Amino acid sequence: MIRTRFAPSPNGSLHLGHAYAAIVAHDLARARGGKFLLRIEDIDGARSQPELVAEYIADLKWLGLRWDGTAVYQSARLARYTEAAERLKAMGLLYPCQCTRTDVLAAATEAGPDGPLYPGTCRNHNVDPQGASWRLDVAKAVSLIGPLHWVDELTGAQTATPEMFGDVVLLRKDAPASYHLAATVDDAADGITLVTRGSDLFLSSHIHRLLQALLGLPVPTWHHHGLLVEAGGAKLAKRRGSPSLADRRRAGESGAALTDALRAHHFPAGISLSAGLESKP
Ligand code: GLU
Repeated sequence: MIRTRFAPSPNGSLHLGHAYAAIVAHDLARARGGKFLLRIEDIDGARSQPELVAEYIADLKWLGLRWDGTAVYQSARLARYTEAAERLKAMGLLYPCQCTRTDVLAAATEAGPDGPLYPGTCRNHNVDPQGASWRLDVAKAVSLIGPLHWVDELTGAQTATPEMFGDVVLLRKDAPASYHLAATVDDAADGITLVTRGSDLFLSSHIHRLLQALLGLPVPTWHHHGLLVEAGGAKLAKRRGSPSLADRRRAGESGAALTDALRAHHFPAGISLSAGLESKP
C-alpha cells in the first residue's frame, strides 16, 4: 500500500508552496488508497521553533487535509539517527570534521548543489572528534556499494550521483542529525513508499539513495513536484511578502476553497508552478 508524507520543518510559517506540497502528498495517497503521514522535522538546531507546530496543524486542518495516525516528531527519534550514524562509523564511512562554514568557503574550489563543495579537508586526518561534525566519505561509500539507481515517477529512472555533494555532513555540530540522515531513516521507519517533495530537493535523493543502500533500508519511489514561484522564478517565502497560510486563515479566507484552487492549479496572480523538474545532472 502506498504511503506518502508531508514533512515540514518548523522554522517559519507555512505558505502557499507548503500547502501545495501537502496537497500533492495527501492527494496521491488518497487517489491510490494509501496513507498520508505528517512528520515534523524539528531538529534544525536554533532554527526550529516548536511553537509553530500548533500553527501548522491548524493550517493543515483549515486546508481540509487529514493525515493518518498521529504526527511524528523527529525530536522524539534522536536515538534512531545516532544508531544509524554509529553503524556507518563502524563501517569506517564517517569521519570527524572541525571545519566551520567559513573554512569550507575558503577551501572550496567548486560549487555543489548546496553551496561551496567541501574539498575533503579533514578526510584522512587525525581530527579531534570532540564537538566535531561527522561527514560521510562518499567516494568510499560509493566504491563499497557500486552503482545505484532510483526512480522519480515524474522524470523517470535516475542513476545515483551522490558524489556531486562531496562528503556531506550526517551528524551536525549544532543539531542532532543532518536532514539527509534523519529524513532517510524516518522515511524507512515510517514505511514511506512514495517520497513526495518539491523539486528543490530532487538532487538530495542521490544522497538518500546511497544512505538507503548503506543502511539496508527499503527503497521508495520519489515524486518531486514543481514549486510555486513568484514572477521571476523566486521560491515563495514569507520574507518576500507572500502571506502565510496562518495569515490567510486568520483573515477568514476559506481553506477548502484555497485547496480546491491549488488542486486545480489556479494560483494567485503572479504565482506559477515551476516547470523546473530537474532531471539527470
Ligand atoms: N523538511 C523539509 C522541508 O521543509 C522537507 C523534507 C522532505 O520532504 O524530504 O523543506
